[in-house]
Amino acid sequence: MTQETTAPTAEEVAAFRANVISKLTYSIGKDPEHASDHDWFEAVALATRDRMTDEWMARTRQVYQEGKKRVYYLSLEFLIGRLLTDSLSNLGLLEVAREALAGVDVDFDRIRGLEPDAALGNGGLGRLAACFMESMATLGIAAHGYGIRYDHGLFRQAIVDGWQHEQTETWLNFGNPWEFERPEVSYLIGFGGSVAAMPGTGSNPEQSRHFWHWAEGVRAIAYDTPVVGWRGASVNTLRLWRARAEADFHLERFNAGDHIGAVAEEARAESISRVLYPADSTEAGQELRLRQEYFFVAASLQDLLRRHLEQRGTLMNLPEFAAIQLNDTHPAIAVAELMRLLVDVHDVPWRKAWELTVGTLSYTNHTLLPEALETWPVGLMERLLPRHMQIIYLINAQHLDALRERGVHDLKLLRSVSLIEEDHGRRVRMGNLAFLGSHCVNGVSALHTGLMRETVFTDLHSLYPKRISNKTNGITFRRWLYQSNPQLTRLLVEHVGEELLDAPETMLRKLDPFADQADFRARFAAQRLENKQILARMIQDRLGITVDPNALFDVHVKRIHEYKRQLLNLLHTVALYQAIRSDPGGNWVPRVKIFAGKAAASYHTAKLIIKLTNDIARTINDDPTVRGLLKVVFLPNYNVSLAERIIPAADLSEQISTAGLEASGTSNMKFALNGALTIGTLDGANVEMCEQIGADHMFIFGMTAQEVEARKQANEYNAEATIIGSPRLNEVLMAIRNGAFSADDPARYTALIDGLKWHDTFMVCADFESYWKAQLEVEARWRDADSWWRSAVFNTSRTGWFSSDRTIREYAEEIWKVL
Ligand SMILES: *Cc1c(COP(=O)(O)O)cnc(C)c1O
Repeated sequence: MTQETTAPTAEEVAAFRANVISKLTYSIGKDPEHASDHDWFEAVALATRDRMTDEWMARTRQVYQEGKKRVYYLSLEFLIGRLLTDSLSNLGLLEVAREALAGVDVDFDRIRGLEPDAALGNGGLGRLAACFMESMATLGIAAHGYGIRYDHGLFRQAIVDGWQHEQTETWLNFGNPWEFERPEVSYLIGFGGSVAAMPGTGSNPEQSRHFWHWAEGVRAIAYDTPVVGWRGASVNTLRLWRARAEADFHLERFNAGDHIGAVAEEARAESISRVLYPADSTEAGQELRLRQEYFFVAASLQDLLRRHLEQRGTLMNLPEFAAIQLNDTHPAIAVAELMRLLVDVHDVPWRKAWELTVGTLSYTNHTLLPEALETWPVGLMERLLPRHMQIIYLINAQHLDALRERGVHDLKLLRSVSLIEEDHGRRVRMGNLAFLGSHCVNGVSALHTGLMRETVFTDLHSLYPKRISNKTNGITFRRWLYQSNPQLTRLLVEHVGEELLDAPETMLRKLDPFADQADFRARFAAQRLENKQILARMIQDRLGITVDPNALFDVHVKRIHEYKRQLLNLLHTVALYQAIRSDPGGNWVPRVKIFAGKAAASYHTAKLIIKLTNDIARTINDDPTVRGLLKVVFLPNYNVSLAERIIPAADLSEQISTAGLEASGTSNMKFALNGALTIGTLDGANVEMCEQIGADHMFIFGMTAQEVEARKQANEYNAEATIIGSPRLNEVLMAIRNGAFSADDPARYTALIDGLKWHDTFMVCADFESYWKAQLEVEARWRDADSWWRSAVFNTSRTGWFSSDRTIREYAEEIWKVL
């Protein structure tokens, strides 16, 4: 494909083929004559892992010898997707593997499709962690990712009669060829029980020592996956923990005759790593979730302290050699756990322990949505983590005392910065805990970071004005351009040279002048058409819907959430449908509206929006008056692999969240990199995309975050008046409300539409007319092909700044101090 300009040599191909056949024979135990495609996939994966392993060990030795500072990325989610193409491509072995397999009549593209997606994440936050792991390996940063090895990743979405059904995801059914199980790397994690205080001893005579006698122990076992950087630059480790029951403990009960009790306890322990919580941007809020959070944090901290002590012999220099990044508040209990380990286990004086903790930890905030800010009931914390609750009280007392000493007596301020919320039953605020326990706190786009300072963390920010900084998200171009769009990559390399692959952040800009060349634009459009034909075939195969690859592919794919406003897009779809029906002979731009995304299983409105999409799709696709001019498609089971197929085939990228609510977004960057034009609000990273790409090459509409906030504050927004003022909107809402798309259940959408009329929390009606006009501009631009493709080229050439390499460099220089 693109990465290797020189064709692989016959020796390389033969050597790789021999490796694969050896794996097939001796590791899998299959005769090549009778091997299934899946056997071949596994053999190729194992042969690829071998190539990484040599580099991995060399690299690990080197990090030890050079005494480099290490980065630890703690995340409850890693949305990795498939690894075969990623690893082969970064190792420069993609063509080698393809030819090696062709020589034994095995089609590489067929077997790579057999790899299950590692869906250990919900959406953007988990995908960011995966992109960061790849970028850290590429930049040669010694990093470990830490998370949970869930038996079942995010549910599989099936669509039955238009409704979402959740099915158990089974990525481990055929084993996982990428990981190394490390039974010798294991820690016992405690829960519950009580705390005993003893008079101080040793270095801490005046301080009493605390012993946590936990009641229940769960074993954490390490599973390591090597993560290889671009051109094999370096190989890092993703270490995921699996929960196992402590065998002896249960055996005792078993032998005592309590068979059922023993099995139940085993199930309780192992449930910790059983399933990923399918909540995105809403709080999971269950005891099991807190157990998951503490389980992986405790195992990871013990593991990294052990490594540090082995190498340095003391914990007093921890911040010099370890940087721990908390991906959202999910690992925020690390603040209390690190304090506990330092003070209770390693006998470090409290003040020193606090200095080490704050010096080592930093925290990334991902959302301002109040329903997503984690808090835990004090009662639950006391029961599950009694020593941590004491430590949190101590941190809080020290924090509030320090403020009073500084002359802060404003009760309202003290209440707002406290770790304990007193209003709705006493709860621990994990965001405040993470903020206080970190030396750096960051947001994920310029707008979001500004809003963090002005909203959730205003008061903490006023007390610690230097702590918050911005690190705008990025994406890895290896996966989101080189691997997912080889056609476009080939074209770019042909025009600016192979160096593009190593320095896309600067080299992409060199494409700018080609935007004015008609033949380049024609080739840019031709590669898009190829990708659209591939997607059209997939839509035909999976859904039986015929779409015209020459139509405008208008794409809205992401988690289904009211703030992301799929509903606004649906209102436009219906308005367009009605307009076409009233003038079927008009000069319409043929469009295909493509939707995909999962709704949290408990999120009723989001699931209803999926049903509405499918109801609208059926009605429109079956209507002979619009045939060919408008098609609506909902592709089930959105995941990384599906994103890799859809994004390179998109003409228009829908990024239309209510301004102020999308922290950054990353699919907006993926689409722009692949040359789609964005229709979007000034939200999240769209704002910075607009600065980089130029407002002329995007379709920006709607209220700004400030305007949204001002309307909410003034309490003056009246959706009903807005609806009355827009006959088009009114007609659309009436049609949906009256069952035009749900003849089988005419009242299905009454409450949904009335909700818009009475509350419209997400300002869908308020932005409708502006969105409609922006969509008219889209059509006008599409008709002017030269202008469209010129803008498309600029989208690709000016998106270099959104590389996750740039983001990681900023973290490394400004927060971790490792570059
Ligand atoms: C990039 C990505 C996301 C994030 O998408 P947003 O539109 O930024 O929310 C979610 N899911 C998958 C599978 C992705 O690849």
